[in-house]
Amino acid sequence: MNKSEKKIPIAILGATGSVGQKFVQLLANHPWFEVNELCASDKSAGKKYKDAVDWFLPSPFPERVGEILVQKCEPKLKSKVVFSGLDSNVAGEIEAEFAKAGYKVISNSKNHRMDEDVPLLIPEVNPDHLELIKTQRYGEGCIVTNPNCSVIGLVLALKPLLDNFGLESVNVVTMQAISGAGHPRVVNLDIEDNVIPFIGGEEQKIESEPLKILGQLNKTEIHFNNFKISAQCNRVNVTDGHTECVQVNLKKKVSAEEIIHVWNNYISEPQKLQLPLAPNKPIHYSEDAAFPQPKHQRDTDKGMAVSIGRLRKDKIFDFSFVILSHNTVRGAAGGAILCAELMKAKGII
Ligand code: NAP
Repeated sequence: MNKSEKKIPIAILGATGSVGQKFVQLLANHPWFEVNELCASDKSAGKKYKDAVDWFLPSPFPERVGEILVQKCEPKLKSKVVFSGLDSNVAGEIEAEFAKAGYKVISNSKNHRMDEDVPLLIPEVNPDHLELIKTQRYGEGCIVTNPNCSVIGLVLALKPLLDNFGLESVNVVTMQAISGAGHPRVVNLDIEDNVIPFIGGEEQKIESEPLKILGQLNKTEIHFNNFKISAQCNRVNVTDGHTECVQVNLKKKVSAEEIIHVWNNYISEPQKLQLPLAPNKPIHYSEDAAFPQPKHQRDTDKGMAVSIGRLRKDKIFDFSFVILSHNTVRGAAGGAILCAELMKAKGII
C-alpha cells in the first residue's frame, strides 16, 4: 500500500475483551488498517470506549480510540472489514449475520473454525486455503478464522517437519498462560500457587484443528491430514505465552541437525510479501538448554514467532522439543491481523 492510499477502516467485535484490547493495541499504528468502529455487549454499547473498557494492557489505548462510541454487534457498520474477539457463546450467530450482510469477518472464536467452507488460516502454513472463500455460502461477505492459540505455535513448528520428513504422530502437553482465559480481573482460576490440569474443550481443538490446517485443498474442500495427535492441557501461573512440550514420530529417519536446519530456514508467503506484522522468521530455534521461557521469548519477533528449544532424541517417540508462542499476539489478535494482511495482499479486502 503506498503512502497516499487511505487506510482501510475496520471494526472490532468484542472490543472490550482480552483479545479485543490486543486488537486495539496492535492496530494503533498499523500502516494499512485503522480502527474505526468498536462493538461489544449491550452493557457496553452507548458508552465511549474509554468508559466501557476495563483496560489492563501496560500501554494505554490511543486517545482517539477512547472517544469512539461503542456500538451493539449489529451488521449496520460502515467498516466492511471486521475483526472478532467475541465470546464464543455469541460469536457463531453474530459473525454469520455480519458475513451474510457482506462484511469480511476475521474471527478468533472457535465457532466457525471447522465449517467446511471456512478457512482455518495460518498465513505461513496454508495461505492457499483462502481459496475456500470463493465458494463460501456468504457471497460478498466471508468468514476467515484464526486457529486456537496453542494450535498456532504447534502447527508452525510441525509444518517444516511434515513437508520435509512426514509426520506419523504427535504428543503434546501444554502449559497455558492466564491471559488465554479472558480478562485477568474477571478470571477466577485459583491459579496462585497452582496448576490446573483442565481447560474446557482445549484438548479436542488441539487434536482436530491441525489436521484441517495441514490438510490438502482440493478445489472447494479440504482433505484433512491423518497423522495422530494426543494433547493434554494445563493452565499455569504465567501472564502471557503458551509453552508446549512436544514429542513426534516422523516418517523418515533424520538427525537433530537436519530438523534444526529446516526450522531455521523456514520462511513462507507472509515473509516473501513482507506483510507488516509478519515475523522476519516464523521459527526461532535456541541452542540454550534452558530455553524457551515465556518471560524471555514470548515477544520474539514482535510476538509473532514461535520459539523452539530442547530438541533431543526421545526414548518412546523419535524426537522431543519445547515450543513457546505468545497466546494473545500470535495466538489471537496478531494472528488474525496477519490473516487480514494476507487477504489485503491477495486483493480479497
Ligand atoms: P473476553 O475477555 O471475555 O471478551 C469477550 C468480549 O465479547 C467482550 O468484548 C464482551 O463485551 C463481548 N460480549 C460478551 N457477550 C456479548 C454479547 N451477548 N453480545 C456482544 N458482545 C458480547 O474474552 P477473550 O479472552 O477476549 O476471548 C474472545 C474470543 O477469542 C473467545 O471466543 C476466545 O475463545 C477466543 N480466543 C481467546 C484467546 C486468548 O488468549 N484470550 C486466544 C485465542 C482465541 P462486554 O465487555 O461488553 O461484555
